[in-house]
Amino acid sequence: MDEFDLPLGDIDLPPGEVAYDPNAMTILDPRAKERLSHSTLKLARSCERKYQRTRLLHNRQPRETSPSLSFGKAFGAGAQHYMLLRTLGHSPQVALDSALHEAWLQYWPIEEDERKFQTRVIRTLELSQPFQERMLLRYEIAEFRGKLASELSFRLDIDDRYYFVGYIDLVLRSRDTGRYAVTDYKTTALRGEDLSPYYRYSDQGIGYSIALDAIVGAELAEFDVSYWVAQLAGNGKAALFDARFSEYTFAKTLRDRFEWFLKLYFDVNYLKSLRGLDVYPRRDSCKAYNRVCNFFSDCGLTATDRPALYVPDDIVYDFNYSLDDLFEDHRRRLSIITSA
Ligand code: SF4
Repeated sequence: MDEFDLPLGDIDLPPGEVAYDPNAMTILDPRAKERLSHSTLKLARSCERKYQRTRLLHNRQPRETSPSLSFGKAFGAGAQHYMLLRTLGHSPQVALDSALHEAWLQYWPIEEDERKFQTRVIRTLELSQPFQERMLLRYEIAEFRGKLASELSFRLDIDDRYYFVGYIDLVLRSRDTGRYAVTDYKTTALRGEDLSPYYRYSDQGIGYSIALDAIVGAELAEFDVSYWVAQLAGNGKAALFDARFSEYTFAKTLRDRFEWFLKLYFDVNYLKSLRGLDVYPRRDSCKAYNRVCNFFSDCGLTATDRPALYVPDDIVYDFNYSLDDLFEDHRRRLSIITSA
């Protein structure tokens, strides 16, 4: 879950500090916009009631955090920082020291368990250095408006209510082939030599690739999505400070992106149906990543449901799109390709 998944404006302070104002604008107001992201849609697919409780209702539960989320965020921030500093000409040692510091700062909230903790992030980043150096030999970071293309944000307006947002970790250009890749760092405890089935058809990189044309400055018919995965080792004390690193890169085309637009459209129509019926079914996703859902104890209690308070999204995004425009643009481009 990233910052985009926190409910907009649902002020979540301890009971008594903020009086819930029933006259304030809520997420149910026809003027309210609803922000979606890759993980919000995953949340909605995993349990509609959890999506409702997290995104649409005033939420007195602590925001859902976990050691895995804090760990993954800190690792990604540190690894990205390393790539940026190396690209800017800093030595491996300076880049690593600075990346470790960045990861330490980004490990927030400080949620730890026996497998995910701050010193393990630091060790994992140190171990990732040879992998990152190999990647630097193969890729360079693209530039956008005179800056390295890192941590760029986009907003895609779907209709009057819903919009989709994302942050792109890195946009890279292969030094050998010149192909561009939307790249995302991942950490996982999954076992196995080949994790490609987990990533090959992930929607995340495809969705984020909508910003590629603007970054590259040309209409691309083909591109790559790449997941750089830190695979945390298995059981045992020694394994806690070990990790392996793999690159999973997949060739994608405009057709893949067009398919993503369709899925987004279907997902939003489903959310609209839920909203129209005011029905949010429960699904058996009550335990994930070894944690019980925050709403487990009072999930069935609906008498106290109150709509989330609404505050407009004031983030300035690097890219702004409308789904209708992108749809038409891709239809045009696909017809040119198929008629050639
Ligand atoms: S407790 Fe289970 S059914 Fe209820 S919101 Fe959480 S995941 Fe859904």
